[in-house]
Amino acid sequence: LQDTHLGDEEFGVVIAHYGVQIDVESKLTGDVVRCHVRANVPALVTGDRVVFHNGNPTGVVVAQEERDNILERPDHRGQLKLVAANINHMLLVVAPFPEAHANLIDRYLIAAETNDIEPVLLLNKTDLIDPAKHAKLIRMVDSYEELGYRVVRASCVNEAGLSELTEFLKDHTTVFVGQSGVGKSSLINALMPGTDTRVGALSESSQKGRHTTTTAKLFHFPSGGDLIDSPGIREFSLWHMQPDDVYGGFKEIRPFLGLCKFRDCHHDREPGCAVQAALENGNISANRWQSCQQIIQGLGQPK
Ligand code: GDP
Ligand code: ZN
Repeated sequence: LQDTHLGDEEFGVVIAHYGVQIDVESKLTGDVVRCHVRANVPALVTGDRVVFHNGNPTGVVVAQEERDNILERPDHRGQLKLVAANINHMLLVVAPFPEAHANLIDRYLIAAETNDIEPVLLLNKTDLIDPAKHAKLIRMVDSYEELGYRVVRASCVNEAGLSELTEFLKDHTTVFVGQSGVGKSSLINALMPGTDTRVGALSESSQKGRHTTTTAKLFHFPSGGDLIDSPGIREFSLWHMQPDDVYGGFKEIRPFLGLCKFRDCHHDREPGCAVQAALENGNISANRWQSCQQIIQGLGQPK
């Protein structure tokens, strides 16, 4: 009741957060309102849908709507921290340079699959691709397409694939991930000319500059769809994972997991292992199995 002077309840989305203050964009007007958060509202992150009292120019968030998903990452003490909410697309960018590694792609795909995010593999810098020199890369990208993943082949130099990408981004909230140097910033700049998504762009409007440089921010693509971006999100495949997440994150292994004779099967040498059977008869490729085992063996080791 004490907030009634702040005006009517509106729906909004969190587009940035700075410690105790957050920026909420009104669904009704598109205005960005700097808000405090009522004490009974759970911790909010960029991408959260909220109900707020718009007291123009400031407001108060009074409720959080249910999340579709939430990305969490461990801090330096290993404690999980919330990063961003309600992400439905992952654009996984690879390029001929820096060289693309299947094992890293598989890590990103696991992160997408286990967070209920639809991935698309974007092969960037196709202007640099020479079919003879890059036969291995081309085969690798084709193999993901054969697994059922959507692939977009693009170039920021000649703009190939950018209209297909624009279509993919519409009506969804996407994160761009991939190794440094593959062209994520270039793609974002090509799709959102004039938007400053640089790391430092946030700190100006906040007292806690150093803190905010790592928090996520939400941007709108001019042709529709949203981007949630932060330096941490761009490499979120490297976050904390459990062995079960890894098996479950391989879409061609997942269907066999419930079919083993023993419920606690390690898919190693147990009798009646459906996963080993699928591997033997070629339903799971040796390459992907090897990548899966390599990821599991590396779990819990410092990166
Ligand atoms: P990020 O680290 O993933 O954000 O990568 P950047 O966007 O900073 O790009 C890294 C380098 O690749 C820059 O020198 C870009 O100009 C270059 N680059 C990006 N996209 C393309 C492309 O499609 N073709 C070519 N030839 N170079 C590109
Ligand atoms: Zn098994």
